[in-house]
Amino acid sequence: MIVGGSAAGLFTAAKVAQGGRRVRVLESKPGFEPASRTLIVTDHFRNQLGSAAKESIINEIRRFELFTDGRSAQVALSRPDLIIERSRLIPALARDAQQAGATLDFDTRFLGLAPNGRGLRVQVESGGHRGELHADSLVGADGATSRVARASGWPPIETVPLMQAIVRLPKDCPPDTTRVWFVPDDTPYFYWLVPESSERGALGIIGEDGRDTKRCIERFLQKKNMEPLEWQGARIPVYKKWVPVRRRIGNGEVFLVGDAAAQVKVSTVGGIVTGFRGALGVAEAILRNGNSGELSALRRELGTHWLIRRTLHHFQQKDYSHLVDLLNNATRESLGEINRDESTRLLWQVVRRQPRLVLLGLRGLLMGAANKV
Ligand SMILES: Cc1cc2nc3c(=O)[nH]c(=O)nc-3n(C[C@H](O)[C@H](O)[C@H](O)COP(=O)(O)OP(=O)(O)OC[C@H]3O[C@@H](n4cnc5c(N)ncnc54)[C@H](O)[C@@H]3O)c2cc1C
Repeated sequence: MIVGGSAAGLFTAAKVAQGGRRVRVLESKPGFEPASRTLIVTDHFRNQLGSAAKESIINEIRRFELFTDGRSAQVALSRPDLIIERSRLIPALARDAQQAGATLDFDTRFLGLAPNGRGLRVQVESGGHRGELHADSLVGADGATSRVARASGWPPIETVPLMQAIVRLPKDCPPDTTRVWFVPDDTPYFYWLVPESSERGALGIIGEDGRDTKRCIERFLQKKNMEPLEWQGARIPVYKKWVPVRRRIGNGEVFLVGDAAAQVKVSTVGGIVTGFRGALGVAEAILRNGNSGELSALRRELGTHWLIRRTLHHFQQKDYSHLVDLLNNATRESLGEINRDESTRLLWQVVRRQPRLVLLGLRGLLMGAANKV
């Protein structure tokens, strides 16, 4: 049984059902009207999803432009990033899961669980009525504030606010180029402008405090002369250490996938590709009743992103200026030619070709340690 019929839950459902198990997905929303959300993912997405990927891809990104304090650097991607629309992705994933044999129950909210003789007793509310279901194993794919995780004894995970405004794409911004601005006075993360077509793009920010984040993005939009046509936002998890994805409750097992397990690259706060990897790992663990190599690889990957984030988190304006200046040709090549989901390889390439970046990184890490982050 899977709680949560969004990206990670539906992907898990398809994989487990394809392995020949009976799968039921419980989703609290009344039906399929997934909110629009413009998302950027690496081309791993295509390998993960196969033919279903095509339906949700609305644009391709071939270049990143990085800005800070009047400076800029460009990084060309050898394998384009993909822009996907969530309201197209979710129905495609649901169709794949159903075709594999999974059933979907809408308007069904998970409330709690308890061990019973053979497995788990699952309390739900469906159509306004409380009831009980039984499952041998349960997967929590119910997002950053996972009720499955809390009911099973996992500690809460830290979240940060992410806001983005859909805007008309400025004339000087090519539709295949993502812009990133480092403005450490506003956020230790960054602003981005991701074109979804030649007409529209998503301008966003990750912050630390909800109200400040809203104020910052409104000011930034004004400064850039852009008007918000539509707002998208939610709190997303910050990965700080590996969340073990499996727990035994009586004779039953509970697993977590996606945002529920903080499977989000904390350097870029992307959770689709990593959530799918977590889903694949959990599906393998359920089907083979053992450990999954995919989960070990994902753990290493998320750990590297945490290291990068810790380094950048304490950068001041002069450090970002230095960073953008240091992005010389050799380093830019290594950033572009390696997929951003292979962050360990990317880090080594950067270190090998531009050792001065290591000193800058060490400084950020030491500042982080001094501030106990
Ligand atoms: C504005 C925005 C932009 C983003 N941009 C990017 C991006 O560019 N690239 C990227 O990779 N990631 C991005 N992310 C992050 C990405 O969207 C998430 O990591 C991903 O959607 C998480 O999927 P999930 O299935 O784990 O959880 P969710 O999508 O949160 O799904 C959880 C599901 O569980 C259901 N549910 C919750 N509680 C219960 C319950 N008690 N019972 C039954 N059902 C329940 C919910 O209704 C929901 O359908 C962005 C996020 C936001 C908010």
